[in-house]
Amino acid sequence: MTAPLIDPFARPISYLRVSVTDRCDFRCVYCMSENMTFLPKKELLTLEELDRMSSTFIRLGVQKLRITGGEPLVRKDILTYFRAMSRHLDSGALQELTLTTNGSQLRKHARALAECGVRRINVSLDTRDDTKFAAITRWGRLSQVLDGIAAAQEAGMRVKINAVALKGFNEDELFSLAEWCAREDMDMTWIEVMPMGDLGNEDRLDQYWSLKDLRARLATRYTLTDLAERTGGPARYVRLEETGQKIGFITPLTHNFCESCNRVRLTCTGELYMCLGQEDMADLRAPLRAAPENDLLETAIRNAISRKPKGHDFDYSRQSVAGQVSRHMSHTGG
Ligand code: SAM
Ligand code: SF4
Repeated sequence: MTAPLIDPFARPISYLRVSVTDRCDFRCVYCMSENMTFLPKKELLTLEELDRMSSTFIRLGVQKLRITGGEPLVRKDILTYFRAMSRHLDSGALQELTLTTNGSQLRKHARALAECGVRRINVSLDTRDDTKFAAITRWGRLSQVLDGIAAAQEAGMRVKINAVALKGFNEDELFSLAEWCAREDMDMTWIEVMPMGDLGNEDRLDQYWSLKDLRARLATRYTLTDLAERTGGPARYVRLEETGQKIGFITPLTHNFCESCNRVRLTCTGELYMCLGQEDMADLRAPLRAAPENDLLETAIRNAISRKPKGHDFDYSRQSVAGQVSRHMSHTGG
């Protein structure tokens, strides 16, 4: 029997987020600068290495795999990796294979993803206004994403919309986005903007719209019932009694969700981040490439998990972006 991964605070590690690329076909203003320099291809784990890495985590007890990026669906031949992971769904070792995407490539890939056993996906969408969408994503087209969402639903996948709460940007769409999601039978999660990376063009304190305020505004129109349910992630959920739909809140800055954290994040270069808000990471690419067997890799993973910190240090309260970490979300995979 292989001993499961347990961190120093007795939290079993059952959730791995894998970033499969740092590249993206959008340039969302809170995530990337306009002129991003991406990693040379040789730095990236190959699809076979991603398979070996993910399969090792699954053998050590990871039951939920979320694929992210950058934009995961712009990586060449990424379906090969999804197909490889679906064998762990078939064997029962993996309970869920899922993905976070900007939706731009879903029309092309939705059916194949569904065939690989992907049943739920998160699509990031902050606005349903064409002009605002073009402004926030810089390079994105709303119609393409909406068509991608339709394709995912046609393929039988459940879609959850993730929207970053941005002051003065999508405050006015609070109700219309909820109503649209209810009509389309989609759940929705609001994410507080996080101080990731130095994008040089945005003052993050200006963009910050607290989910406490958002929730209070939602309560002016709907009856909110807190749900106990957790999905292994940092989201807290409410049900809107009038529509029956679920709305989630990811509040990494104002709510301490760390105590129940069961997740770690692997970057596309094989760095393992044990906490989204801390700089500490472990290089797993070197032990992976050092030998064809997985012993060294497994030891490196166990060592990394033994360093998982209790929590992070984000804090907006002192009116400075304290605890800011320098890497971009597209690097750690959101
Ligand atoms: N490209 C895919 C997408 O957009 O869904 C996956 C990667 S993206 C980095 C994952 C999530 O991180 C998206 O929902 C995005 O909105 C969110 N995100 C990016 N930068 C963020 C920031 N500074 N604060 C909060 N969320 C952010
Ligand atoms: Fe690309 Fe996602 Fe970042 Fe937007 S949030 S730039 S879609 S990785």
